[in-house]
This record gives sequence, structure tokens and C-alpha cells, in this order.
Amino acid sequence: MAYQLLDIIFPYRCLACRTYCEREYLCRKCFKKIPIKKQSECVGCKRATPDGKTCAFCKEDNPLDRLLIVSDFKQPTVAKAIKKMKYGFIEDLLDPLHELTRSYLKLRAKKGQSFLAENPLLVPVPLHYRRENWRGFNQARVLAERLGRAYQMAWAEPIVRTGYRDPQADIEDRNQRIENARGLYACVQPVLAQDRHIILIDDVCTTGATLNECARVLKAAGAKHVSALVLARG
Ligand SMILES: [Zn+2]
Ligand SMILES: [Zn+2]
Repeated sequence: MAYQLLDIIFPYRCLACRTYCEREYLCRKCFKKIPIKKQSECVGCKRATPDGKTCAFCKEDNPLDRLLIVSDFKQPTVAKAIKKMKYGFIEDLLDPLHELTRSYLKLRAKKGQSFLAENPLLVPVPLHYRRENWRGFNQARVLAERLGRAYQMAWAEPIVRTGYRDPQADIEDRNQRIENARGLYACVQPVLAQDRHIILIDDVCTTGATLNECARVLKAAGAKHVSALVLARG
């Protein structure tokens, strides 16, 4: 009973430690405990590669050139924050997730791996409009917009999602995921992609099927290099 009353007075509780917060869903203490991912890996085989570059073995089947992963989905706090943001429709959780991404980029810059010199174009992975209407926002676009503002980088939406099929999260099999993603995206503004270094932005990467399909259509439109920056790998 007492808790129920507190829930009404303070509707915000930290998703990790459950303490009542003023206006946030993740308290500072728990936020600071989230580790940044230091190892980077190949999108295809998940083996460690320098700077997340796609390894020589996977290059042929994986149009994505590089995968940058901010944190680990095995971290319960990160997994909870992403799930709650996506399925609890809590756009406010993109604040700490954006901050986490900036910490990750800061760490990369310290190692001399900043990609700002490449003058990249940030491209959010598009959602089908039906899914976006259901959620009320596209988390990838919100992140791209914020990162663009924070780093004065351009962002644009040259690709759209044309088909509506089962969400990738419901499919277990890798080959099925690749099949499911094929033909789902189209580049409608190739002029934006031409000769550019592109950084795809998304929340979670699993098999990489979606990112690879987006990279494929962007390269077909003339993109020079396609990386992806994701919050975590599921
Ligand atoms: Zn907490
Ligand atoms: Zn590989």
C-alpha cells in the first residue's frame, strides 16, 4: 500500500535499483556503473577485429564495413533500458543511452579512433511507418539527431523501409533473418549517399542482417564506406 502511494507521488523509479528518482528512469549511480564495450568485433563471425572492421572471411557476405558497439547487451541495466525504451515506449530513456554513446565515442577519440575526420553522414535505420506509429518514435532517428547535434555531424534519411514483415527480434535463425531483411529497404535519395562515409545508427544489432541490408542498398547507391554504430549487440 505504502509503495503504491509512493508510485503515485514519484512515478519515476530507477529500472536497475528501483529507487525513486526525481525525473529519470535510471539513477546516476546505476548509469555510471554501465561499462563501455572495449572489444570490437566483426559483424559476420563476431570474432574480435581491430576497430570492428569486417574480417576478410566475412567481407564477401557482409556489405557492412565496420561495426561499433557501445555497450554489452549482457549487462542487465543496458538490456533493461533498451527494452523499456522500445517496448515501454519510454523515449526519455534515450537520454542516458545517448550519453552512454557519447562516452563510448569519447573513449574512441582518446585512442585516436575518432571518425569525425571522415565527415560521415549519420543515417538512422528506418522503421516501417506502422511500427513507428505504434511506438510513437524511431529510436534510431532520435539518436542520430542527437549525435548529429552534439558533434555537428550531418544526418539524413536516404533509405526507407518499404516492406512490413515480422520484426527481426521474433526470428531465431540467422539465415532466416537474412532472408527476412532482403528487399526490405530502399535508397530513395541516392544523391545523399554518393561517395559518402556513412554511419548507420541503430539500437541493437543481432545477426547484422538489417545493418548489412541497409549497407548493401547504400553501397548500390554509391556510398564509399558504411559503418554502423549500435547501443548493444543482442
Ligand atoms: Zn539505480
Ligand atoms: Zn568475420
